[in-house]
Amino acid sequence: MKEYAVSQLRNVALVSHGGAGKTTLAEALLFGSGATKRLGNVDEGTSILDYDPEEIRRKVSISASVALAEWKGHKINLLDTPGYFDFVGEVKGTLRVADGAVITVCAASGVEVGTEKSWSFCQEYDVPKMIFINKMDRENANFYKTLDALRELYGTNIIPLQLPMGQAENFTGLVDLVRMKAYKLEAGKAVECEIPAEMADEVDSYREMLMDAAAVTDDELAMKYLEGEPLSQTEIEQAIGVGTQTGDLVPVLLGSAKQQMGVDFLLDYMVACLPSPDSSEVQGTDESGELVSIDPSDESPLCAFVYKTISDPYVGKLTMFRVYSGVFKSDSHVFNINQQVDERVGQVFLIQGKEQIPVSQVGPGDLAAVSKLQSTVTGDTLGTKDSLVKLPPISYPAPQASMAIVPKAKGDEEKIGTGLTRLMEEDPTLHVDKNVETGQTIISGMGDLHLEITTSRLKAKFGTEVELSVPKVPYRETIRGKVQVEGKHKKQSGGRGQFGHVWIELEPLDAEENFEFVDKIFGGAVPRQYIPAVEKGIRETMVEGVVAGYPVVNIRATLYDGSYHSVDSSEMAFKIAASMAFKKGFMEANPVLLEPIMNVEITVPESYMGDIIGDMNKRRGRILGMEPQDGLEIIKAQAPQSEMFRYGVELRSMTQGRGSFTMDFDHYEEVPAQIAEQVVADSKKEKETA
Ligand code: GDP
Repeated sequence: MKEYAVSQLRNVALVSHGGAGKTTLAEALLFGSGATKRLGNVDEGTSILDYDPEEIRRKVSISASVALAEWKGHKINLLDTPGYFDFVGEVKGTLRVADGAVITVCAASGVEVGTEKSWSFCQEYDVPKMIFINKMDRENANFYKTLDALRELYGTNIIPLQLPMGQAENFTGLVDLVRMKAYKLEAGKAVECEIPAEMADEVDSYREMLMDAAAVTDDELAMKYLEGEPLSQTEIEQAIGVGTQTGDLVPVLLGSAKQQMGVDFLLDYMVACLPSPDSSEVQGTDESGELVSIDPSDESPLCAFVYKTISDPYVGKLTMFRVYSGVFKSDSHVFNINQQVDERVGQVFLIQGKEQIPVSQVGPGDLAAVSKLQSTVTGDTLGTKDSLVKLPPISYPAPQASMAIVPKAKGDEEKIGTGLTRLMEEDPTLHVDKNVETGQTIISGMGDLHLEITTSRLKAKFGTEVELSVPKVPYRETIRGKVQVEGKHKKQSGGRGQFGHVWIELEPLDAEENFEFVDKIFGGAVPRQYIPAVEKGIRETMVEGVVAGYPVVNIRATLYDGSYHSVDSSEMAFKIAASMAFKKGFMEANPVLLEPIMNVEITVPESYMGDIIGDMNKRRGRILGMEPQDGLEIIKAQAPQSEMFRYGVELRSMTQGRGSFTMDFDHYEEVPAQIAEQVVADSKKEKETA
C-alpha cells in the first residue's frame, strides 16, 4: 500500500438514519474506486463492512467499520457507522476521528429522525458535512422534496452540486452544476451528454444559487464572478471546500448506491470538498493541564487516539486508532498516557472491512489498528514518555435501558463476568453493575436491541447463555410506629435447655440513620455477655427483612428488660429471642416498604412536553421544573425506580427518538399501600416457588 501525505488523506464518516443505504454506499464507493473486485451486498450478506455475524443475521450495522478507497492520488478512509440509536456510542467514537461526514438521506423517505440525529452529531463534533441523496432509483424518490425539507430544517446554505435527470424509475443521470455538464449514468459509468433542454431554467437557477454560495467564501472569486469572468472547476471546488469546512455551505449530491450511479462523483467531491486531517487545529492537554496544539507532522512525537476496540476471544483484542502526529511503527513501544503504562506494539494493520493489511508504519492523519495491547481501552491516548500530551476522551450518552442478567446454566457466573468485562472494553456504552441488595447483575445500555445483542455476543464469543429480565427493585422495609415487644425462646429437651428472654422497644429513626441499638439494661436482667448476641440477632433479621424479604432500615431497637436462666441461657438463645421479638414487634409497628426515587432529567422538543408530563403522572412521577435550552425543553422530575427501567425505550417511541434522558438515585420514599401489597404478595409467591 502506497504511503500518503497527510494532505492526501480524507477520513470520512458515513452517517444516516438506519436503512438510508450507508453500508450499500460504502460498498459502492469501495467497488467504484477499485478497492474491491466484487460489489458487496447487504441484502445477500456479502458486505465487507457488515461482517459481524449479528450484522449479517439482522441486516443492520451494529458497529462502526473502516475501509479505505484510493482515489485519484488520495486515500479515503471510509468510516461506516450504525444508524440505529442503540449503537450511538459507535457513531460518537467514529465522528471523533473523522474530518468530514457524508449524511446519506433516502430520496423516498426524505428527512428522518436519524437524519436529524446525524446532523446534530456532526454539529456537536464540528465535523464538516456533505449530503448524499441516495436511492434516486427507488419508487417515490423525490429529489426536490427532500432537498426542500433539508433547506427548511437546516437553512439555505444547503446547496445542490447536482440535479437529477428524471427520478424513481425514470432516473437516468445527473447534471453537474460545478462542471456544467450532464451525464447519463449506468452501473459504474458516466457518459457525458447534452443538458436536457427542459432542464435549462432550473439548471441556471441552481447554478446561480451555487455560485452565490461559493462566492461568499472567497472575495477574489466573488469579484471574478460578479465581473462575469469564467471560473474554473478547481476554483469553484476550492471555494466549496472552504465553505464546507466553515459550515457556510453544505454540498448536496445524489445518486443510487445500489445501482452504482453517481458514486464516482461522490468520490471526486469527497476529495475536492472535504478537509484533509491537517486542515483544522487539534488540541490536547499536557501534564500540567495546559492546552497544546498537536502538529500533524512525521517529525513530531507520536500522538494517537484509540477510537474503537474489538475483542475477540480467539484473535484477542484489536485496538483501532488514529495518528494525530508522529509515526506509529510496527514492532515498537508506545506509552499509554491515560493508563501510564508502556505497551509493546506488534504488527500494525490498515483495516479493510474484516481484512487486515499489514504495514510497517502509519503517519499523521491516518487510521490503523494493532492487536494484543495489554491495558489500552477506547478513549486512551498513545504517545511517548517524552511527550505526555493527552487528547480529550469521547463523551458517551447515559444508559437508556437496564435489564438483569440471569444465567441459563448454574456455575456460569464467572464466565459471564469475564465476557461482560471484555464486551465493556469494546463498547463504552455498556455498563454492568452488581446490585448488592438484590444480588442481581444489571446490564445497562442504549436500548433493547443493544442489550439483546450483548447477550447474543456473550453466547457467540464466550459460550455462555443468559436470559434478560426486568431488574428487581431494591425495596427496603421500615416502621412508622413505636412498640414494646417481648421475645422468649425456651426449649427443654432432655439435657441442657435453651433460654433467652428480652423486652425490646422499636421505633423509627431519621432517614439518614440506618440502625441504632440502645442497651438500657440495669441490674443484670440480661447478663452483659449476652447483650452483643441480642444486637446480632436483630441485625441478622434486618438483613433478611420481615415483611417481604427486603432489608430493614431506619430503626432504633432498645433492649430494656428480659430474664435469664443460670444454666440454660446461651448466646444462641438470646439471639433467637431477639430475632423473635424483632419480627413480632416489626409487624405491630405499622411496617411500610420504601422504594428508590430517581432524579430524572428529560430533554425533548417542546411539542412533546404535554405527552411527557402526562406520562410522568402515570408513572407516579413529580415534575419539579422545566426550562428551555438550545431549542429543546428540559424537564426535571422525580419518579420511582420501579416505573423507570424501560423509560428510555418508551421515551424514544413517544418522541420518535427525539427525546433523551438521564437518571440517578436520589432517595427512598414510602411505597403507596396498594402497590406495597402487590410487592409483598409477589415476594411471597417467589419464596414459595424458589
Ligand atoms: P444502512 O442501514 O444505512 O447501512 O443501509 P443499507 O446499506 O443496509 O441499505 C438498506 C436497504 O436499502 C438495503 O436493502 C439496500 O439494498 C437498499 N438500498 C441501498 N441503497 C439503495 C439505492 O440506491 N437504491 C435502492 N433502490 N435501494 C437501496
